[in-house]
Amino acid sequence: MTTPPYIGRFAPSPTGPLHFGSLVAALASYLDARAAGGRWHLRIDDVDSGRSRAEYAAEIPRTLEVLGLHWDGPIQSQDNRREIYQTALEKLIAAEQAFPCGCTRRELEGARRGPAGVIYPGYCRDGLPPGRSARSWRFAVDDHTLGFRDRCAGQQTINPKDAIGDFIIRRADGLHAYHLAMVLDDAALGVTDVVRGADLLPATAPQILLQRALDLPTPGYLHIPVARDNEGRKLSKTNHAPAIDPHAANTLLCNALIHLQHPPPDELQKAPADELLAWAVSHWQPQRLSASMPL
Ligand code: GLU
Repeated sequence: MTTPPYIGRFAPSPTGPLHFGSLVAALASYLDARAAGGRWHLRIDDVDSGRSRAEYAAEIPRTLEVLGLHWDGPIQSQDNRREIYQTALEKLIAAEQAFPCGCTRRELEGARRGPAGVIYPGYCRDGLPPGRSARSWRFAVDDHTLGFRDRCAGQQTINPKDAIGDFIIRRADGLHAYHLAMVLDDAALGVTDVVRGADLLPATAPQILLQRALDLPTPGYLHIPVARDNEGRKLSKTNHAPAIDPHAANTLLCNALIHLQHPPPDELQKAPADELLAWAVSHWQPQRLSASMPL
């Protein structure tokens, strides 16, 4: 059996400008792809049209260009793929792997929570209770153990029913959920390796379950330690991580490389972005992001 050529991607949601945390994810996925001689795609994850903003969808690629992170092929979008998501949902419904749910967020407020949020208590799993109508669709998770290996975090073993529960694949507002869109888009691009922030490690099990249910291949995973601010909080758009200034490209890339355990040599501290990236590609050793690093 031959190994398929490496295909990676960076898939930011355009809900805010690129910040240092997302730059680290972009850089790690770029380096991992280029070091393997592979392709690297850029997909703007705009499935959540209510939270996506056109100005960020335009600005993120510009920032990546200034940083020398050049992607292959056209920029992908999720906005034009709703029919594909819907066809997949219908396939899951026909296979009785999805069920309609009438519960509101408020009704689930008191439910047990896991690393990926509320664990659905199963109220509508065996059919909508009388008088209720479908609001969302959920994936019916079996009671079994799921294992996968992450190249940084190591072997992961979970019981998805216990840790995640039946998760939403089509939301009450009619939009297809991130997990469903994401697995279909990664498969369409032929992604062989997902490299992203460790905040998305809990998203991996539901995504693997969907890949299996939809007969899609499961890529390899590398979740990188998330960047934190001085108070130890994860840098994210929701906690107002500052947007990065692409004019400070060299300093930003050096800082991101230091975060990724690849401090550049002194003579490259002031080098143009392309030179710094060429050095990083030829020195990329993701095993340095060992599981002992706090995720
Ligand atoms: N769009 C997701 C985000 O920005 C990332 C998706 C992924 O890398 O799988 O958080």
